[in-house]
Amino acid sequence: MQLQQITILGATGSIGMNTLDVIARHPQRFQVYALTADRQWERLFEQCRQFNPRYAVLVDVTAAEQLQAKLKQFGLSTEVLQGSAALEQVARAPEVSIVMAAIVGAAGLKPSLAAAQAGKRVLLANKEALVMAGRIFMQVVQEHGATLLPIDSEHNAVFQALPRDGNGDLRAMGVRRILLTASGGPFRTTPLAALAQVTPDQACAHPNWVMGRKISVDSATMMNKGLEVIEAHWLFNASADQIQVVIHPQSVVHSMVEYVDGSVLAQLGNPDMRTPIAYALGFPERIDSGVAALDLFQIARLDFEVPDTQRFPCIALAYMALRAGGTAPAVLNAANEVAVAAFLEQKLPFQSIAAVIEHTLAAISIGAVDTLEQVVAADTQARHVAREQITRSQALC
Ligand code: NAD
Ligand code: MG
Repeated sequence: MQLQQITILGATGSIGMNTLDVIARHPQRFQVYALTADRQWERLFEQCRQFNPRYAVLVDVTAAEQLQAKLKQFGLSTEVLQGSAALEQVARAPEVSIVMAAIVGAAGLKPSLAAAQAGKRVLLANKEALVMAGRIFMQVVQEHGATLLPIDSEHNAVFQALPRDGNGDLRAMGVRRILLTASGGPFRTTPLAALAQVTPDQACAHPNWVMGRKISVDSATMMNKGLEVIEAHWLFNASADQIQVVIHPQSVVHSMVEYVDGSVLAQLGNPDMRTPIAYALGFPERIDSGVAALDLFQIARLDFEVPDTQRFPCIALAYMALRAGGTAPAVLNAANEVAVAAFLEQKLPFQSIAAVIEHTLAAISIGAVDTLEQVVAADTQARHVAREQITRSQALC
């Protein structure tokens, strides 16, 4: 078996660590070429010690210096690179065949795109890249012969339930709808009046999944599902009307595909990201992920509910942005990132996240997306408008 070299963008995050956990189970298959992080150099050092990659990349200068010193002290040969350009360098490297794109937020767009441009097998966790620049991303994948495999559990489930040789035409495949499941997050049943006071720690305490803080807040507002609707649109060539969100509190059915003959194909499993990660790493083979077998007797029941759009206005905002097209999803994503960061810093109440996004979408005129520059410009403008709106709302408090 040929050893495959892997770059993990966002190695110190929740997806990055789960990826390393799977890789460690298959030393004859995978070798780590590069690990990257923003500034968490201590965790990156431990990962270098265990996986001995050729490169470690840190965006932050001071963190890079600290990692370098520590590696030297321990006599490790990993070379440290610093800065955002280095993320693209290790994503493109000719030795690398697989890139795990697991940076959170818009920061992941350029390095994920670099991996696609270099024709890699791209395991995409960084959904924000597709939300912002789906048209460009899918075009680059096609033009450069890259293989795009979704890591998001829902999209991985849909990918598994679709015909493998489908040509991207849902109608021709006999698909009627994609049913994206959603747990409903930690506030599915919280009294509406209590939502005004919820704290970042409460929002990050997801009932079924352990994840980074940004995506945890997105799950609490259900913007995560909104972003995933847009992600599904690009990945599966599905219109907004062909994507239905289904609340499923147990997070056992990871999503479903409904066919015209009445069949519904679902993928089930324990809520553990190592399953979709292992599926994409080994594809088309199935490899061990370390995930426990699903115990249906213990789960006993599976529930399904209609999403409560009053409680979760972010879902409607995402559908609106998808239907508007052009730069609207990039604006939605940028406003969301700014609002979530402000909420996590306790500068914005939970329910104002949706209000900031709505205001930003209304304030900016939507343009076409033909180039990456247009996406970046829309992202910058939306961040500016969202920050101003947050400052204004603070002044009123
Ligand atoms: P996380 O916050 O745990 O980790 C983020 C990683 O990105 C870290 O390694 C961090 O150092 C790096 N990073 C952050 N900002 C950066 C920047 N400006 N430049 C370079 N690197 C930067 O996040 P996560 O939960 O692992 O999520 C990663 C991505 O995967 C997100 O897009 C998320 O939506 C998606 N995702 C996560 C899960 C999950 O279970 N955690 C599930 C589905 C999809
Ligand atoms: Mg998901």
